[in-house]
Amino acid sequence: MPPAELRQWFAEHGWPGYRARQLFEAQRKYAASGEARITTWSAELCNQVFEELDWSWWQELQHWRDPEDATEKWVVTLRDGQRMQMVMIPDRDRRTLCVSSQVGCAMGCTFCSTGEMRLQRNLTGGEILGQILLVDRLLRDRGDRGLTNLVFMGMGEPLHNEYAVRTALDWIISTDGLGWSPDRVTISTVGIAAPLRRLIRESRVNLAISLHAARPDVRAGIVPAERGLPADELRALLLDEIRALRNRKLTFEVVLLAGINDSEDDARELIRYVSGLNAMVNLIPFNPWPGGRYSRPARPAVERFQRLLQDASISCFIRRTRGRNILAACGTLNTTEHAVPVDLVELSERS
Ligand code: SAH
Ligand code: SF4
Repeated sequence: MPPAELRQWFAEHGWPGYRARQLFEAQRKYAASGEARITTWSAELCNQVFEELDWSWWQELQHWRDPEDATEKWVVTLRDGQRMQMVMIPDRDRRTLCVSSQVGCAMGCTFCSTGEMRLQRNLTGGEILGQILLVDRLLRDRGDRGLTNLVFMGMGEPLHNEYAVRTALDWIISTDGLGWSPDRVTISTVGIAAPLRRLIRESRVNLAISLHAARPDVRAGIVPAERGLPADELRALLLDEIRALRNRKLTFEVVLLAGINDSEDDARELIRYVSGLNAMVNLIPFNPWPGGRYSRPARPAVERFQRLLQDASISCFIRRTRGRNILAACGTLNTTEHAVPVDLVELSERS
């Protein structure tokens, strides 16, 4: 339930609305223990509330830490046995959680291991918010600082599960919940028109758009969602909303696949596409996964591509690969088989 609804729920039961805030605080405090309790409430109130509201949302956690760069990954078994993943990326004083919005994904991008799983089910708002509360608590319990940033770049397409994602966002930003500034949150999406427009108009989070190719034929070959919202219509939508996008970060993500979308022509089309949108470009060299059919371009090719964009005055960064030794890098999250890791060493050598 979104914060306002939970307040309402308490009111309908004859309890004051501030109980919603107390419930949230207790969930935050005991997020890692799984224990349902609120010490300041009477046993009677606890029983009544917990009879109707779920407290716990997971049954098992498996944890990996990349020895090379300290990236951490948790595979979470949900109450119905489905599994999803969360990745925590430490970077100096930042602690960024890569959040999942679905188990699997229906979008079927051809380079993405989560897409290969297909959609198993949507996560609930509670399961999305729960990821943040859980990892924040795990970090604090070991004396580390808590989470500082969130990116919806884990499993799933956030705008294909709009209500749950928006519910979790409400809790993240509301003062009844975490009270974070929206500029600490980035939603990454392949682009679904109506929910994208609503997100732009109704929130102030940062946006990362998974473009991957500005040429429609190239994009259609790797991002099936191009058939739903073609790149030119996506660009028109963003231009249309350019005022609402002011003062927040707009990024285009481009997974570079050797021989597919990494040519000079691709770069030129991308420059044309991005110009006038006040956006930056994040290049993500393809991360290999078992069964993936693409290869990562050599480093000089990636840098050449970057230079072409920079020469056109577009800020363009190459995303550093994090967590590749534990299959936690972008696009490699898959819970059908990886709870038992494949030969990770062999895989990281190939990249
Ligand atoms: N569904 C959303 C968010 C999750 S994917 C989206 O697609 O934007 C997060 C990012 O990882 C996306 O930009 C996605 O294109 C990228 N990605 C997917 N597979 C990848 C791979 N094998 N190597 C590198 N990046 C990948
Ligand atoms: Fe889904 Fe994003 Fe993977 Fe595409 S890249 S299949 S939208 S998770």
